[in-house]
Amino acid sequence: MTPSSVSNGVLLIKGGRVFELAGDVDVPPIADILIIDGEIAAVGTGLDGKIRASALPEIGGRKVDEVIDASDRLVIPGFVNAHYHSHDVLLKGCFETIPLELWLMSALPPNYPKRSAAEIRARTLVGAIECLRGGITTVQDLATLYPFDEEHLDTALQAYEDVGIRCVFALQIADIPGVKLVPFWNEVVPERERALLTGATEPLKGIDLPTLARDIVRSRQGRHQRVTWALGPSSPGSCSEDLLTKLSELSRSDDLPIYTHIYESKAMTLSARHHHARDGGSLVNYLKRLGLLSPRLNLAHSIWMAPAEMEALASEGVNVVLNPVSNLKTRGGVAPIPAFMSNRVNLGLGCDNCSCSDAQNMFQAMKMFTSLAGLYDQRPGPPTAADAIHAATIGGARTAGLQGRIGAIRPGMAADLSILDLGDPAFVPLNSAARQLVFSECGRSVETVIVDGRVVVRNRKIMTIDERSLREEVAELMKALREDLRAVMARNQRLLPYLMDAHQRICSADVGINRYISS
Ligand SMILES: [Zn+2]
Repeated sequence: MTPSSVSNGVLLIKGGRVFELAGDVDVPPIADILIIDGEIAAVGTGLDGKIRASALPEIGGRKVDEVIDASDRLVIPGFVNAHYHSHDVLLKGCFETIPLELWLMSALPPNYPKRSAAEIRARTLVGAIECLRGGITTVQDLATLYPFDEEHLDTALQAYEDVGIRCVFALQIADIPGVKLVPFWNEVVPERERALLTGATEPLKGIDLPTLARDIVRSRQGRHQRVTWALGPSSPGSCSEDLLTKLSELSRSDDLPIYTHIYESKAMTLSARHHHARDGGSLVNYLKRLGLLSPRLNLAHSIWMAPAEMEALASEGVNVVLNPVSNLKTRGGVAPIPAFMSNRVNLGLGCDNCSCSDAQNMFQAMKMFTSLAGLYDQRPGPPTAADAIHAATIGGARTAGLQGRIGAIRPGMAADLSILDLGDPAFVPLNSAARQLVFSECGRSVETVIVDGRVVVRNRKIMTIDERSLREEVAELMKALREDLRAVMARNQRLLPYLMDAHQRICSADVGINRYISS
C-alpha cells in the first residue's frame, strides 16, 4: 500500500482553527497552513488567495499538490509520547492493577523466550498505529530487545519508517540484574525457587554495552528519515557507575538524550536508600556525582522524588517525564506534580507500556496530569489545561532533543500535526479548545494526522499500512505468545506468596517521603 499523500511536495491546510499555546487557546483563530517538503512554510489567513496572486514568496513558484479543507476543524501540534515501550504492545489487557515489581515479572522480555522478527515488526506497527490514531506524531521508544539481535533492531526501525511516525529510539540496557534490586526478594524467596526470579532487566550476556550503544547509534544515525536516537540505561540502580559514566560521555560527544527510569515505585526508592548510602540514598545525587545531570537527561516517572532532588533537577535543566496512568495501574503512587511545576522543572508526558497503562492516549495522560495535582493541593491552581498541552507538545519536544523542530505549528518547524473534527460532541459548543482537549476529548475526533508533511491518517484510517492483514498476522502470532504468557503466569503464581510478602514489607518501610494518600 502506498501513502496517499506526499512528504516532498506542497500541502495547504485551509480554514482550520490553528492552536497555538502563545495565542488564544480558547477560540483559536482561523488560519491556513502552508507545508513545503515536510516543513511548515507559512501560517496565516488567506494563504490560498496569496498563492493565486503570486503574492506568497515562501512557495517559490511551486504548485500546491494537495489542499486539505479544515473548516470546522481544530489543527493542533502532534503530541510527543515522551515515554513508551514497544516490547509489550501485544500484552495489552492481560493484567489487572498489580504492583510494579509483579508486573515487571509478568510483562517484560527477559521473562519470555526470544521472539520472532515477525512479532517484533507486528508489535511495533500496532503500537505506532495506536499512537498515530490518537494524534501522537512522535514516540520515544525505550525498547528492550532481549536477547539482543541486530535483525530485531533493524526490524523495529524499518517498521517505524514504514508506518510513518517520528520516533526517538533508545535500546534499553543494564548491567545489574533487576532481580537483585528489589528489596526483600532474596530474603523471602526460598533458595530452591530463586532461579525462577527474573526482573525488569537482565544484562545482555557477552556484550560490551557501551560499545554496543555507540555502534548501533553511529552506524544507523540518519538511516531512517524520521528516526533519531537516544541512550537507554534502564534505571540508575540497574547500571554500574562505569556504564553510566561511559553513556554520559557518549551523550555529550554525540549530543544524544538519555532516557532512564527513576523512583517508579516505593521499592525502587527503598532500594536506592540501601544501595546508594554513599550518595545519601539519593539516585539524583548519584547521577550528579557521575556528571549525568544535564538538559539531555530525561527521568521517567520520578514519583518518589524528594524536594531537594527536584531543586537539583531544576537547576541543571533535567527533564522529567510523567506517566500518570501507568503509575496508577502499577500502584506506584502519585508524582508530586505541583512541586515539579513550582520548581519549574521541564515536564513531558508519556503513556508508558501497553500492558500497564493500557492505552497510548495523550488525552488520558493530560487529564490525569491536571487532575492528580489535586491530591497534593486542595486549592485551585496549576497545572491548567494549557500546562498539560505544553507538557504533551513543547515540553515533550525538549525531552526528545527536538525543541524548535516539533511541538508547535510555526514556520520553520516540521509539519507534525493533527486535524480534529469540531463537530464531535467533545467540542460542541466550543467554549475552550484547550480545556476541551484536556477535559472532554478522548481521541474520538482525531481525523487527519500529518507527520513530516505526509498524511499518515486520513478519515481516521492509517494510510501507510494494511491494517487488516496486520490484524490477521497478529492473531496468528498470538498463538505462541499466549502459550508463553501462560507459562510466565504459572511461574508467577508459584512465587506469588513470597512476592506479596516482600511487597508488604516494602509498603511498611520508611523512605522519608510518602506518595500515597495513606500507607
Ligand atoms: Zn518505562
